[in-house]
Amino acid sequence: DVTATKGNEFEDYYLKRELLMGIYEMGYEHPSPIQEESIPIALTGRDILARAKNGTGKTAAFIIPVLEKVNVSKNEIQALLLVPTRELALQTAQVCKQLGKHMNVQVMVSTGGTNLKEDILRLNNTVHICVATPGRILDLAQKNVADFTKCNVVVMDEADKLLSPEFQPIVEQLINFLPKSRQILLYSATFPVTVKQFKEKYLVKPYEINLMEELTLKGITQYYAFVEERQKVHCLNTLFSKLAINQSIIFCNSANRVELLAKKITELGYSCFYIHSRMPQAERNRVFHDFRSGHCRNLVCTDLFTRGIDIQSVNVVINFDFPKNSETYLHRIGRSGRFGHLGLAVNLITFDDRFNLYKIEQELGTEIMPIPSVIDKMLY
Ligand code: ADP
Ligand code: MG
Repeated sequence: DVTATKGNEFEDYYLKRELLMGIYEMGYEHPSPIQEESIPIALTGRDILARAKNGTGKTAAFIIPVLEKVNVSKNEIQALLLVPTRELALQTAQVCKQLGKHMNVQVMVSTGGTNLKEDILRLNNTVHICVATPGRILDLAQKNVADFTKCNVVVMDEADKLLSPEFQPIVEQLINFLPKSRQILLYSATFPVTVKQFKEKYLVKPYEINLMEELTLKGITQYYAFVEERQKVHCLNTLFSKLAINQSIIFCNSANRVELLAKKITELGYSCFYIHSRMPQAERNRVFHDFRSGHCRNLVCTDLFTRGIDIQSVNVVINFDFPKNSETYLHRIGRSGRFGHLGLAVNLITFDDRFNLYKIEQELGTEIMPIPSVIDKMLY
């Protein structure tokens, strides 16, 4: 959810009134998490190295501070926004123009595949912000048509792509046209070695942001029990009677099995909700919300629901059906590192699952142990 926030507001950043108007006219009510992390730091002039998922509002996270810094009364290129593709350049410039609608800011897009002369003519007029792909803009800098000596901010969006072998030498040459004191804001979904090298070479004490929510199995005790398919419900019943469950999530591999199991669990006398993909979205949301609010102790679901593990009160996850691959396993069992709480995972393993059990254990470099007859309550 792009708008889930810590409670800061755009007014808290003391932005220019005209910029604030642009933000609200875009329909942005509250800053998104990446915006909350980026905007105040970027405004101090510090370099930023940020990792965040797609669709989390990165564009405004760098455009808002850039617009705040621009002095429109000066006829100088003051910011360079580098992106890897022409489409992204157009889209980014569009956001820039919309957010800066009341600022009288001049935004230029410069990409390959367009007429060079037109770019040169455009640069005769005022340009405050240049949104560009690397090749063309380097050309303009080398021809002394684009003057970057007053350009104090450079943003690299999709930096992992901008620093791929195809672009990296061009980007580095371009950076050398900027003043030594320039601020670099770097946004990337992944951090390949090229990004790390670039960081070492060009960034000064960067403020590092990581909103990737990497999943970890740390703090989670993992057990398996060998069972036959027809013993699974009986085994689950035993687990329910033995474990100190605060809330549990029970995974099945199909929507049908989810419904059948939910019915059996209810017959056994335990409270349970279920969620699967064939249910209407509104009902899924309601069940999720009610489970989250603690209205029910157990939830049976398919992999649709993997994110739900971050519910703090869930201390037990049961793979009633064992997942096919390690990625799914990690998503079911893993928690994002931010929540340091403990948990227990129990895997019901049929004969056919054995191979997968060892494979997943290997791939994740983790240990899944045989379930002991008594489980220490301190572990979860
Ligand atoms: P990213 O670059 O991280 O993939 P975008 O910057 O393209 O994400 O933003 C994704 C969508 O979220 C866009 O439609 C954008 O207008 C919207 N958006 C960005 N910030 C906010 C906000 N603070 N409130 C509401 N919507 C926002
Ligand atoms: Mg983006």
